Amino acid sequence: MISAAAAETSSKDDEAYYDLVVIGGGIGGMATAITVAKHQQPHAKKILLIESEPSVGGRVRSDFTDDGFILDRGFAVFIEAYPQSQQMLDYDALRLNQFLPGARVKLRNKEKLAAVSDPLRRRRDIIKAITSPVGSLRDKANLLPLFFTVITKDIQSLFDDEAETDTLSCLRSYNFSEEFISSFFAPFLEGIYLTPLSKQSSKMFYFVMKMFTVGSAALPMGGMQSVSDQLGQKAQDLGVEIKLNSRVLSIQQHLRQEEQHSTSMIAKDDAFSVIVGNREQDEQRHINAKSVVVATDYNVARNLLQDIPGLESLKSLPKLSQRSVGCIYYAFQSPAPLEEPILLLNGEGHERRNTKQFPVNNICFPSIVHKSYAPDGYELCCVSLLENAISEHDEDQASLDMAVRKQLSAWFPGFASDIIDESKWVTKGFYLISNAQPTQFNEEGCANVHGGRDCDAFQGLAMPDGMFLAGDHMATATFNGALESGVNAGDAVNSFLSKK
Ligand SMILES: Cc1cc2nc3c(=O)[nH]c(=O)nc-3n(C[C@H](O)[C@H](O)[C@H](O)COP(=O)(O)OP(=O)(O)OC[C@H]3O[C@@H](n4cnc5c(N)ncnc54)[C@H](O)[C@@H]3O)c2cc1C
Repeated sequence: MISAAAAETSSKDDEAYYDLVVIGGGIGGMATAITVAKHQQPHAKKILLIESEPSVGGRVRSDFTDDGFILDRGFAVFIEAYPQSQQMLDYDALRLNQFLPGARVKLRNKEKLAAVSDPLRRRRDIIKAITSPVGSLRDKANLLPLFFTVITKDIQSLFDDEAETDTLSCLRSYNFSEEFISSFFAPFLEGIYLTPLSKQSSKMFYFVMKMFTVGSAALPMGGMQSVSDQLGQKAQDLGVEIKLNSRVLSIQQHLRQEEQHSTSMIAKDDAFSVIVGNREQDEQRHINAKSVVVATDYNVARNLLQDIPGLESLKSLPKLSQRSVGCIYYAFQSPAPLEEPILLLNGEGHERRNTKQFPVNNICFPSIVHKSYAPDGYELCCVSLLENAISEHDEDQASLDMAVRKQLSAWFPGFASDIIDESKWVTKGFYLISNAQPTQFNEEGCANVHGGRDCDAFQGLAMPDGMFLAGDHMATATFNGALESGVNAGDAVNSFLSKK
């Protein structure tokens, strides 16, 4: 892991001048730093990435328990077909293990888990696909035009040509039955975009269907943190300094002497001061920079930018509502109740999904997909919980935990007594992530722009020269979108620095 100690040694506290300061060490910020460092002669430009947390990755991070389990901070998968991931990451080094295509579905009143197969990717599954109790024959026939669209069109055309509507309306336009939508599409897509189908973008629906049709979902060796660490390492190898545990408190724009009518001379190129607080020592430090990229989530960016001349009106903009997600991990002795590396969806219908009594949306056993998630002889179960089922109050967590156990016991009757027994299925982690994803429909802030929107404007307000934005709110609310936004901001910085 890119540790605080390693990163601290590479930062020179006495030299507080940089060509570029990137604020935020999530996927978007790291993609920015790499794009700039790669374009310049290695080590020719001074680039600093400032991250408030003790490790890089932002929303793509993992915890490592003393007894050998890896808990990703919320259920996440690595989608191999993402175009920007293919460009930026070394897949071999990640040692990815793939999920099986399709999903298992727990249907109401059916003990046996049903299969949703993907015969396009596993031809031998064609009979399984036709005979599956999930969806009628008509639903299966209606999948063909959908698959045709996502396979024959490239991503850009899916975004450009397909009309934007909500995903529920889009699915209905293919004449899928309500039962099929509720037992398969709803738990699958709501597990990805964390919001009801009626609030999801149809363009994002086509995009994700394409990603899952042309490639696999996978987990890397060592958890999702390995993906973030690979980017962090790449940035450091290219000469980027990474400063962890450091929160940017504000950004000031230097005005030139003639504009400022001041006696103090400020170097012309040195356009910004980034004021950084050290979390533990309560110290503040000023770092001067020619260019700055704000690569945090939307709400932090809005707060940091509102003191910049020309951007004061951001103060009156409402906060962007973000989608929350929860996740509980259970560790237990092998075997797992489901020994296939596959996603299991709650297809019991909306009364028995995402409620306080029936909280589960989907589960998977990460240790079955990648053995590195659990020590020998043990398994890990990851349960995803959506907004309606979760609560911020600690006292509610015990009852949520018990509701999850009861629901899973009914799904796996042969394992019921172990699942209920807290000493056998041990609760290993409980995550509640309140800024998991920006909402997809929100005036200018809709998060469905393939390739990313212009990185030199925020909410229609032009940024000052040399200041840019990155982060998933600038593209699509995905790992790929965060990378795209970072590359865009990096390209803009390169062209800005080349003019200096
Ligand atoms: C549980 C979960 C599961 C997900 N699963 C998937 C998935 O399977 N596939 C997919 O494509 N996407 C998934 N996503 C979405 C994806 O992870 C995000 O879209 C992406 O990681 C966002 O990256 P980012 O760089 O834009 O933002 P962030 O990851 O939020 O990075 C911003 C960084 O800025 C730092 N920061 C904030 N304020 C300051 C400050 N003042 N000073 C310094 N640093 C600061 C933060 O600590 C953070 O590290 C998931 C998200 C979550 C939460």
